[in-house]
This record gives sequence, C-alpha cells and structure tokens, in this order.
Amino acid sequence: MQYEAEPYKIKMVETIKKITKKERIERIKEAGYNPFSLRSDDVYIDLLTDSGTGAMSDRQWAGLMLGDESYAGSRNYYHLKEVVNDLIGYEFVIPTHQGRGAEQVLFPILIERQNQYVLGNMHFDTTKAHIELAKGRALNFVIDEAYNTELEHPFKGNFDLDKLEEFIKEHGSEEVAFILITITCNSAGGQPVSMENIKGVSEIGDKYGISIFFDAARFAENAYFIQQREKGYEHKSIKDIVKEMFSYGMGLTMSAKKDGLVNIGGLLAFKEDEELYNQARSLVVPMEGFPTYGGLAGRDMEALAIGLKEVVSVDYLTHRIGQVAYLGKLLDEGGVPIQKPVGGHAVFVDAIKFLPHIPQAQFPAHALAVELYIEAGVRGVEIGSLLLGRDPETGEELISPVEFLRLTIPRRVYTDNHMKVIAKALINLYNRKDEIKGLRFTYEPKILRHFTARLEPIE
Ligand SMILES: *Cc1c(COP(=O)(O)O)cnc(C)c1O
Repeated sequence: MQYEAEPYKIKMVETIKKITKKERIERIKEAGYNPFSLRSDDVYIDLLTDSGTGAMSDRQWAGLMLGDESYAGSRNYYHLKEVVNDLIGYEFVIPTHQGRGAEQVLFPILIERQNQYVLGNMHFDTTKAHIELAKGRALNFVIDEAYNTELEHPFKGNFDLDKLEEFIKEHGSEEVAFILITITCNSAGGQPVSMENIKGVSEIGDKYGISIFFDAARFAENAYFIQQREKGYEHKSIKDIVKEMFSYGMGLTMSAKKDGLVNIGGLLAFKEDEELYNQARSLVVPMEGFPTYGGLAGRDMEALAIGLKEVVSVDYLTHRIGQVAYLGKLLDEGGVPIQKPVGGHAVFVDAIKFLPHIPQAQFPAHALAVELYIEAGVRGVEIGSLLLGRDPETGEELISPVEFLRLTIPRRVYTDNHMKVIAKALINLYNRKDEIKGLRFTYEPKILRHFTARLEPIE
C-alpha cells in the first residue's frame, strides 16, 4: 500500500483541448445551460458516465487486429465464449450490441404473462423500460439504508430479504417472472451486494421456484467490494468470488461497456438451461444478429474477451475503486457533502446540502453541474428532479428524494491528478456557493427532458 500509483503506463495520449472560462460561459449558454448539449471538445474532464468511456489496453487494441469477421462461427466468438465459461461458469453465451440488447431479448421470454413482476434490488432505467415493454412490472427491494446518504453501510446494494419474501408470499410465486440482482447496484450509487445477500436471494428463489438472474455490468467491482468488506472472503481471489457470485443465478445480462472494458458490447449468458438458450438464440437473430456475433464485429468480441480477463486483476481493481474513493476523500476533507460510503464507479455530491438556498423545483444539482463546468470544464450529470420529470398522468412536477451531482469516473482514463483538479474546483464552488443560482426551463421536452432541455439562470 505504501507505493501505490496507477497500475499502468501510458503509451498513447489523447490531447484534451482547454478553453478559457470566458469561452465556457459562452458555450454553456449556447447549450441552453445543459451539459448534455455541449460538444465533448469543449469539456476538459468528462464525468458524464463510465459507460463505454474507458481506455482499452495495448492487448485489447492488438486483439482488434485479430478480428475474424465471419458471419457465422467467428473465432473471436469462441474465444469470448471460453472466457465466459471459465470466468463466470456459464455454459451458453450470446453476444449483444450492449446491455439493453441482452435485455430486449431475454425479458420477453421470461415474462410470460402481462403484469408479472420482476423483483430487483434497484433496476437500472433501461432495464426497467425493457421490463415494462415486455408488459412486466419492475419493483425494487433495496434495503432502506440505501436511501440514507450519510449512513455508512458496507453493502448498500443489498436486498431487503424480509420484504422480498413477504411480497412473494403475499402475491404468489406465479406472479413473479424472475428476480434480477444488479451488481453493483448502479441506481443506488454503485453500491455493492454482499455474497451473503446474494445467497439469501437465491435461497428465496429456490424456496418459491423463482429464477435468479444477474444484471452484471459491474460484476468485478462488486467482487472487489466483497473481498475487501465481507468476512470470509478477504483471502479469496477475485476470480473465485466472481465464480461463486454467479453460481447463485441461472443467467445474466451484461453491459460490457463497464467492466467488460470495451467501448461497445454486451452479453447474454445462461448457466445450463439449454432450452432457454435456444429460445434466446432464435430471438436474437431478428433483434441483434446471428447468435455468434449478436451485433458486434469479430474484433469487438476479441477486445471484450481480453477485457473480461483484465478486469478481474486485483491491481487494476485496487486502483479503480481506490481512485473513486480518493476523489470522495478529497471532497469530504474539503467539506463538500457526498454520499457515503463512496460507490464503485462514481462520487455523488449531495446538492440539497450543498445549495440549501435553491429550491428543488429550480434543480440545485443541475445548477451545480453548470457551475462546475464553468469553473473548471468538468462535466458531471444531475441525478434528481430534472431527470425524474413530471408525473406522466397529471403533468405535475415531481420532486426527487435526492438531488445528486454524479461524478462518474471512466476506467483507466484519468489520473489521480485529474481527481485533484475536480476536487479543487468543487471545493472552490463550495466556498462561494451562495452566489450559485437556480434554473428554469426555456424549453422543456415532454419525454426524457433532461437530455435536450434548455434552461436559464433565475436572476
Ligand atoms: C449500463 C447498464 C445497463 C444497460 O446497458 P447498456 O450497455 O447501456 O445498454 C443495464 N444495467 C445496468 C446496471 C447498467 O449499468
């Protein structure tokens, strides 16, 4: 621990353009005070998402040259399948263009009747959307502790097992299509799920005859948290922990744009159910592509096979999770209110505490995102009332239980020096927070308004 730095050296660089504060004030105004509408060339440090934004290794780039672009039976597919068989322990593997591609294939198969429930710790938004498109109902059973940003709890992504079982008893197992365990729990702030809890969910599944699936986008980060925080796992390897986690489910969907360490890709895999695999294989053809490429080029599958092997390196994970924690520590020491403990892929700044003078209807977390961009060219994203939108039936403005500015850290892209810049900028903002103003719409789209809305400061 004494001599820790980035566990890689840099052999190719991408220059980041720096523009002046005066230019940033212009650009954000032109963008309707919406960071989504900025050009990435005008951003210095981009923390919008960790999805597909990571850096591939030299080996992955070399792998791209080994792409076998055969329509059927590509060599790279078999490499990818071997890696998944070995790492995850699941026999049947279908590549997809990204995570939602796997969701759109799997969910209509599993949801047999209208209004069947899909029970999760906390469903990701596209996941919830695909459950609903398949006429199912998505419900969350994450522990109450997840909603308390100040409470230190090692596994805030855990299911409330009592509530889960209670629900199944009350509604009957035939009303439940399947249980989906999201590791780490993205929507709860990248918070991990313990092995004990995964085991508990699986026991409930066995008891009531309900299948367990994983939403596995950040499986390696979850395994690392288990190794660091759960009794009995401190001496187990990440690979052993990964295998054990997945042994409690019968299949997975995965966005490979996170822990797959690639810029595009996804997976659908089944432990042993060949019939389910065959159903999925038939559906994947019209939706994603032939089952040995599923919307990916051969070279993409090669890069993914290599990425999956790299991501379970303990040196990689120590730095990855450590870098996010480091940013959290700098902010905390500077007095900036953040969600605790810090999750795997992002730091969440609590904008209600940061800007108590801005009412939620004036989007304090979004105002903070705008100011952070102006201050230092750092692009974060609002997770709060702007994202939540209006009640679709009444049109009433909904008030979110949280107003977060999410600072999402891409994998292997920025150094700890970038973390210092981000922290310094936010601490400077914190010291002049009273000057920050709320925002109002000048253009409000009806659906998914946060992507394209235009706003203006309230003078
Ligand atoms: C990103 C993500 C998805 C969707 O995957 P895409 O690759 O963006 O389609 C699903 N679930 C979780 C938990 C995710 O983080």
